[in-house]
Amino acid sequence: MLIGVDFTGATLAAGVVDGSRLLRSASLDVPGSAAPGDILDALAQLVRSLGEVPDAVGVAIPGQVNPEGRCWRLPNAPTFEGVPIAEEIGLRLGCPVAVENRATAAALAERLFGHGRAYPSFLLITLGTGVGGGLVIGHQLYPGANGFGAEIGHLCVDASSDAPACACGRRGCLEVFAGARGVLKKFSEHGGLGLRLSQVANSARRGETAGLLTLEALARVLGRAIASIQNLVDLNAVVLAGPLSGTYDLFEVGLRAELRVGTFAPLLAEVPVVVSNLGESSSIVGAAYLATL
Ligand SMILES: [Zn+2]
Repeated sequence: MLIGVDFTGATLAAGVVDGSRLLRSASLDVPGSAAPGDILDALAQLVRSLGEVPDAVGVAIPGQVNPEGRCWRLPNAPTFEGVPIAEEIGLRLGCPVAVENRATAAALAERLFGHGRAYPSFLLITLGTGVGGGLVIGHQLYPGANGFGAEIGHLCVDASSDAPACACGRRGCLEVFAGARGVLKKFSEHGGLGLRLSQVANSARRGETAGLLTLEALARVLGRAIASIQNLVDLNAVVLAGPLSGTYDLFEVGLRAELRVGTFAPLLAEVPVVVSNLGESSSIVGAAYLATL
């Protein structure tokens, strides 16, 4: 029995997984002030509430983790720094536990049940609160030597000295512009009113200038970042996921134009860019299969 858990920072969701489907699932909110030990207790309790004795559990977290399951840093929960998450959950549940970054886990689900069946090498980009990346090369998940692989959100897209600061401590990272905060800031600069990405998407879908110009700016920075990756890796496909990926048809032309500017060979700019159809549970599904690798 495979069980996956998705920890977003604000919520915990666990599911019994069969193929790409969740047979049963449960979730709970995590208070911002909760200590790591309390969150891991709640996680173990949530898994037990599914009523199964798991053979293995996989956990997706919103940060980086080394191959042994020790957390490097969670931007939204600083107290998790250095916590051996896999070991701690293993002690609580008495079974093997694998831990990975959320986008990397989602890329594994995509490899097994989504576009990864057609494309051997692809980068999954999640466009949500942050900008995450998960890389699969030649059908193999590539988390990186130390768990920092494919962090496209921290690729520099603005090298000017006054570029806005990123949560990672550097300036000009893609996430500053393409993460929710940057997108909503741009939306507001163009006269849009809203605090959620869905409002930006709806505005663009209605043909309003605020939404369309916001997506145009998103296309420019995202295209610049993907072009750099193409120059390095030469992928079979780029897969978009997350709340803003559903608007891809509205910014596809802009993204493709930027790709043509940023790649050194014309073929690299023609990489298929597709939208994931696995939905919100992809990190749970991918996490569950981590233990099978
Ligand atoms: Zn950064």
